[in-house]
Amino acid sequence: MSTPADAVAELANSRFDHAVDRLSSYLAVPAISCDAAHHGDVRTLAAIICGDLEATGLQNARVLELEGALPCVAAERLDAGPHKPTLLVYGHLDLQPVKGEPWDTDPHTAVIKGERLYARGAADDMGGWVSHMAAVKAWLDQTGALPLNIKIVIEGEEEIGSPNLERFMDAYPEAFSSDVMVLTDCENPSIDIPGLTVSLRGLVEFKLTVSAIANDVHSGLWGNMVPDVSTALIRLLSRIIDDDGRLSIDALRTTSDEAWRAEARAVPLDSETIRRGARLLDDIDPLDPRGLPPAEWLWRQPAVTLLSTTLPTPDMEKNALRANASATLSVRVAPGQDVSQVQAAFEDALLVDPPGGVKVTLEPQPGTAGSWLYTPEGPAFEAADRAYVKAWGRPMLQIGVGGSIPFVALFGRRYGDLPLILNGVMDPETGAHGPNESLHLGVFRKAIRANVHLYEELAALPELIR
Ligand SMILES: [Zn+2]
Repeated sequence: MSTPADAVAELANSRFDHAVDRLSSYLAVPAISCDAAHHGDVRTLAAIICGDLEATGLQNARVLELEGALPCVAAERLDAGPHKPTLLVYGHLDLQPVKGEPWDTDPHTAVIKGERLYARGAADDMGGWVSHMAAVKAWLDQTGALPLNIKIVIEGEEEIGSPNLERFMDAYPEAFSSDVMVLTDCENPSIDIPGLTVSLRGLVEFKLTVSAIANDVHSGLWGNMVPDVSTALIRLLSRIIDDDGRLSIDALRTTSDEAWRAEARAVPLDSETIRRGARLLDDIDPLDPRGLPPAEWLWRQPAVTLLSTTLPTPDMEKNALRANASATLSVRVAPGQDVSQVQAAFEDALLVDPPGGVKVTLEPQPGTAGSWLYTPEGPAFEAADRAYVKAWGRPMLQIGVGGSIPFVALFGRRYGDLPLILNGVMDPETGAHGPNESLHLGVFRKAIRANVHLYEELAALPELIR
């Protein structure tokens, strides 16, 4: 039986080139939020989008401003009425920088090669919410109305960690208040499998410092009787990092249940996908998964990275024992783990019985991010699956994200009692935040179609109304 959404989806499909053109026009504006020289571009793009949302048929389109923040854009259309649920669509318009990256084409000019559209922001995240603009326009052009109430908020500071998003939530609560949310800045596990993000790793950084002597001293005079803090630092690091470079603190190893592992094994993360996605050299293999699904290593286990050290660089070489040495480590915290648990485990491993009796300190650095673990249950998710079956031929696969996305943790904390549908238009070859970022056009097309059906499916669920 065909429904109104089928005809709307056909119209959206026939207008796919318009959606690509609209997306390309936004990608021409270098709205890089981390660079003050581009803050004018962020504002320019916000104003353009605001006008376009109104022209698309959304109402009350406005640029939301706060002192000391780059703006958000908001719009809505609420004339489906109070007996229909209200959907909030969140996305972001700002971009990561491109400085120093070896792009094959101009990063701020959309270029289509094969099935992919290349430009900074194509998939992260411009394509995500433009897919909703296209769906809204098709609904309005085909039927003159939307099947449910829709609000949209497009942030201008996501790529710098959403430092003011909670202030926007406080200052403009009506822009966010809704019954169900779609947050469109996440990944699909392949171009054929739509993803539903349900977990995030958190992030904490530590500075590990080793000291033993008041100043540098002659290594020929004192070597063998005075500790070398540089090698002591390396020995300490080897206590918590194994030969593969993985975190080796048993207390922080997580266990996932077998049902989840079975799902995780369905995630198409084979060696070739990892090789291409992570740009591994031809003769380098991914790390041995040791019997676990690779997805578990990427999403559910903690990971450690050495961010910097103060070990002497070649231009500082001298025959001396050094006064101190330090390293800054970042730890991806497993979903469900908290930062204090990680700190306690690091202290146990690093502060006890130091090599050579050196003095060791471990200081957490500012800017921690919580992990997030969500259970998607209820009619909104069943509705989303029905919409995705129509558009993609299969329901969404529950996935995690290895990185910490501050806006997700924030929405989880503020609105975690609502159905939160985290999806997007990225795929393993997107290369977000790197050179030659791209959007798969087939994914973009299916995303638009899924949105069209999602609106109809959610509209049939008055039980979602709060
Ligand atoms: Zn993003």
